[in-house]
Amino acid sequence: METETTAPVKANIKELDLRYIANTYARFPIVLTKGKGSLVWDEGGKEYIDLGSGIAVNPFGLCDEEWASVVSAQLGQLQHVSNLYYTEPSTLLAEALCEKAGMSRVFFANSGAEANECAIKTARKYSRDTYGEGRHTIVTVSGGFHGRTITTLAATAQPGFHEHFMPFTEGFEYVDAANTADLERLLSQKNVCALMFETIQGEGGVNCMPQAFLDTAAKLCAQNDVLMLIDEVQTGGGRTGTYFSYQGLGLKPDIVTSAKGLGGGLPIGAALFGEKTKDVLTPGLHGSTFGANPAVTAGALNILSRTTDEFMDDVGKKGQYIISKLESASGTLSVSGRGLMLGIETKRPVGDVLKELRERGVLALSAKSKLRLLPSLNIPWDVLSKAVDIIIEVISNETSA
Ligand SMILES: *Cc1c(COP(=O)(O)O)cnc(C)c1O
Repeated sequence: METETTAPVKANIKELDLRYIANTYARFPIVLTKGKGSLVWDEGGKEYIDLGSGIAVNPFGLCDEEWASVVSAQLGQLQHVSNLYYTEPSTLLAEALCEKAGMSRVFFANSGAEANECAIKTARKYSRDTYGEGRHTIVTVSGGFHGRTITTLAATAQPGFHEHFMPFTEGFEYVDAANTADLERLLSQKNVCALMFETIQGEGGVNCMPQAFLDTAAKLCAQNDVLMLIDEVQTGGGRTGTYFSYQGLGLKPDIVTSAKGLGGGLPIGAALFGEKTKDVLTPGLHGSTFGANPAVTAGALNILSRTTDEFMDDVGKKGQYIISKLESASGTLSVSGRGLMLGIETKRPVGDVLKELRERGVLALSAKSKLRLLPSLNIPWDVLSKAVDIIIEVISNETSA
């Protein structure tokens, strides 16, 4: 493996982290110090191919020069003024996002969970404004993931997340994506104001929503004025081969949330509103101190302007390439997902696969029991094919199982 000189690491970072940082992460045993594009180096100078992009956050890889120079220039001009004033970068980003998404207005937050909180508040207020009280229930899908706040955890229909933090926000009901009859029943209930889902569940295991679910959802939402709220926090920003995944599925959501890939590596979240919901929030009803930060939004605008249709086609082609190579590998049981958001069910336990991949210089992720790949959208073909060849060898390696 090639080595590279990296900035010296001052102390035993792993020990200090374990002592001083809240014990919420089971980290991989690597201290990363430097990155460039789809390559990243650890404190010992070992080089890795990055197939996680900071959990779908870095669409143009690590330390992309164009994005970094736009952000630096904005930092030197105006880094933060609060939402008491108009600023140019967030305004231009909102315009570009609306044009890209076919939506009408944007609220900027700092994370996916906050974007979803805003979406939930908006859905409830829309319903209250239109129908009065009692129609506040939001239906979400089993296995989904919507964030770590108390309310977005309540929206997260995974029992494991509901054990320790009672009581949760009320007004959520869960549906199994395969059970269209139950979906139809729930969306016909008088107390339901919205359906919230990911078109491909990321944290839940890279599970694509079945076509019958999408068809029923589109039909019943339109029929009953139930808002369709699509969580594109992981699928958005071009990840699945269209800018938002719903654009490849012919859906017309009322609210869309975005975060992870939107900022090119800096924290940002956004809730996008369609015609029905664009004027629901009025001054004083919602806000964020850091939201729409000029440096972050200037960088996001740069990323968005480079996420062209041509670039999206390339994301689709790279996804197809990975799928075709991995589907025929002897260590593969199944491949799910679209574009550069893929899950591979492997014969070997995913923990063993990730460990051996690390040793061989490839950083990947898991989602439930699957190997999850979320490379940078601009990963060079030669780097991608090298990583895929290593994955095929590792998942098919029965001797070290
Ligand atoms: C990551 C994720 C979130 C939460 O985003 P944070 O920025 O961690 O708050 C919400 N929804 C989906 C689909 C996600 O993948």
